[in-house]
Amino acid sequence: MRRLQSATQMLEWSRRERCSGKGIAFVPTMGALHEGHLSLVDLAADRASRVVVSIFVNPAQFGPSKDLEQYPRDVERDMEMLSDRKVDAVFVPEEDVLYPAGCTTLVVETGLSEILEGASRPGHFRGVVTVVTKLLLIVEPDLLVLGQKDAQQVAVLRRLIHDLKFSVDVIVGPIIRESGGLALSSRNAYLSDDERRQAACLHESLFEARNLVRGGEDDAGVVLGAMRDRIEREPAVRIDYVVAVHPDTFEPATSLEGPTLFCVAVFVGDTRLIDNELVSSHPESPDGN
Ligand code: AMP
Repeated sequence: MRRLQSATQMLEWSRRERCSGKGIAFVPTMGALHEGHLSLVDLAADRASRVVVSIFVNPAQFGPSKDLEQYPRDVERDMEMLSDRKVDAVFVPEEDVLYPAGCTTLVVETGLSEILEGASRPGHFRGVVTVVTKLLLIVEPDLLVLGQKDAQQVAVLRRLIHDLKFSVDVIVGPIIRESGGLALSSRNAYLSDDERRQAACLHESLFEARNLVRGGEDDAGVVLGAMRDRIEREPAVRIDYVVAVHPDTFEPATSLEGPTLFCVAVFVGDTRLIDNELVSSHPESPDGN
């Protein structure tokens, strides 16, 4: 497993591999790796003969709070975790590799980026889209591997790839959860024991939505109300949004007939957590998980 730091090293490695006929799957991350990230690495290894993982805490996607400063970083531990998997190269650029002094170019998606996560975190998707554009140009992968955990990010990046005609396919790995149900997230490390217990309301509200829809409830307002009630039982939890949307367009779901994506964002104390679940009223359909 190679550790590459400069854009030139990365690009040359990738081009060499592709010239020798190897397909490259790419898993971008911000490090602080957990089993969710590793599941994407395994998916990448199943789908391509070469796997590249990037580790870069992207300052451009953080707001002005302390979140960037606090974000957990331990590249040596991350490298050790990756060394047990089928990873060929890890791209670990310093900030000035991706944002050289005087860099003033940003890439902006102006539709989906404005709502939900984009509305709550102004500038967030501009940072994500900019860094992923740079990474795609430097890694030149055949396959981009993303997590359903960040469902709106997947939709925004699909638009980037479509609109700028990047020649890369996208595959999406399922959300990996703790045994209790909490979605793995690097930010879970900020939670106290009591906050972690209260954070269970995220996935429990989603499971409640699934049960209601599968039980025949077709009024989105009723399902969202039940989700809110579940979350509001926890004193340390504040709702940012609870929505039911179309899984591709993120338009509010008017009917719960087809597959519907339920998305939740909350603050547990000072920690912002997100989760989602794709629910179909017909569990036997491919989207009924
Ligand atoms: P991050 O390091 O948070 O930028 O995440 C890197 C990638 O891992 C993104 O595509 C995320 O959607 C994905 N990811 C994060 N958490 C999980 C999880 N619990 N299960 C599966 N994928 C995840």
